Amino acid sequence: MFDKILIANRGEIALRVIRACREMGIASVAVHSTADSDAMHVRMADETICIGPPSSTDSYLSIPAIISACEVTGAQAIHPGYGFLSENAKFVQIVQDHGLTFIGPTAEHIRVMGDKITAIETMKALGVPCVPGSGGAVPDLDSARSMGAEIGYPVIIKATAGGGGRGMQVARNDSEMERAFLTARSEAKAAFGNDEVYIEKYLTTPRHIEIQLFGDGKGGAVHLGERDCSLQRRHQKVLEEAPGPCISEEERARIGKVCADAVAKINYAGAGTVEFLYEQGEFYFIEMNTRLQVEHPVTEAIFGVDLVREQIRVAAGLPMSFVQEDLKINGHAIEVRINAEKLPNFSPSPGRITQYHAPGGLGVRIDSALYDGYKIPPYYDSLIGKLIVHGRDRTEALARLNRALGELIVDGVDTTIPLFHALLEEPDIHSGNYNIHWLEHWLDQTLKQG
Ligand code: ADP
Repeated sequence: MFDKILIANRGEIALRVIRACREMGIASVAVHSTADSDAMHVRMADETICIGPPSSTDSYLSIPAIISACEVTGAQAIHPGYGFLSENAKFVQIVQDHGLTFIGPTAEHIRVMGDKITAIETMKALGVPCVPGSGGAVPDLDSARSMGAEIGYPVIIKATAGGGGRGMQVARNDSEMERAFLTARSEAKAAFGNDEVYIEKYLTTPRHIEIQLFGDGKGGAVHLGERDCSLQRRHQKVLEEAPGPCISEEERARIGKVCADAVAKINYAGAGTVEFLYEQGEFYFIEMNTRLQVEHPVTEAIFGVDLVREQIRVAAGLPMSFVQEDLKINGHAIEVRINAEKLPNFSPSPGRITQYHAPGGLGVRIDSALYDGYKIPPYYDSLIGKLIVHGRDRTEALARLNRALGELIVDGVDTTIPLFHALLEEPDIHSGNYNIHWLEHWLDQTLKQG
């Protein structure tokens, strides 16, 4: 086992990894930019090291700075968290070249899944059901038009390098194709420096269902059921739950096995998530994330496992601490993402926290790097915390969410907390009756009413 792990991240996910390290008796190293000297992850780690100025490019994304930090502190392994360098194959290669361990899958698996076209080709060949589509890059407008006609409108044009919901455009008919194709390409170029796009059938009323997987890197893999992340704004998840309210035990076992077998076949190591759109009883693969997800705590809650501990074990060459038969679902869990954002436009709201009170009690977990007096810097993601509740069933989890939100106080900045209070008033949220478009429609309606 490692003696010391460096966490190449910040915020709540850095704390999450520090906590796992401490429980395992492993020393932790926090890296930070000059804007984060007072951040909670810096206060909580065993050792800290400043790696650069506020801009992420020069700090949390700086490969030389992070490798040097390992050398200076003697850390043997790097946990990347999510975002930043977590899905950067080049980084993983450099880490290995320096004799260090990357806590995650191989550079090759990250490369294959990071390009959406190779990901789809690989998954298809492994027997995973995919969205009908171009199957490869679409080079020009003429090809896009004929592809649209062939697949049948509506279609969605997506960046092959995509992520974070960027570089995606819907064309409802042939006359919309030119605008959609050119916009998707220029967005992709601006966001990822790569304007390659592909085309898929646009599903009109799907839910977003993702399967949590874990591989031992030696041909063994298990699934930890699904999460339903259908409540999205601009393709970004807002609330996640497990198990999915519309997924039966048989469906879970079937699609879970298909995915676990697929990643086992490629000797996948560590945590991974296969994302699907789910419509009328069918699953359609959209992408695989080769890292820990923001929403992993809902899975931890219902299965009673520590996914970060498991990631560290597998990276250290130990076997997984569970087999498929050990993994039984207990109850229902819901996570809401607390962002420092001002409603109704969700504009970033950095600033000083004047008062912070975290909820507690049975079945409540808060993953947050906030504290009284903390100043949220304007340079990074607006996620400031996650509230996760666990109950015997969905009804109890919703009641607990309502109770916990009532106890949560974050003053000094605007947050998305009022959004969740309002959502809990909606019958559709209680019945679980929503698809990936529900939240956008609801926001439009609510805003119209003022
Ligand atoms: P990213 O990597 O940018 O997050 P994804 O491929 O995971 O992109 O898609 C993000 C979201 O975009 C999905 O959860 C869904 O809401 C929407 N989406 C993607 N592909 C389709 C599709 N074929 N039909 C309908 N919606 C889609």
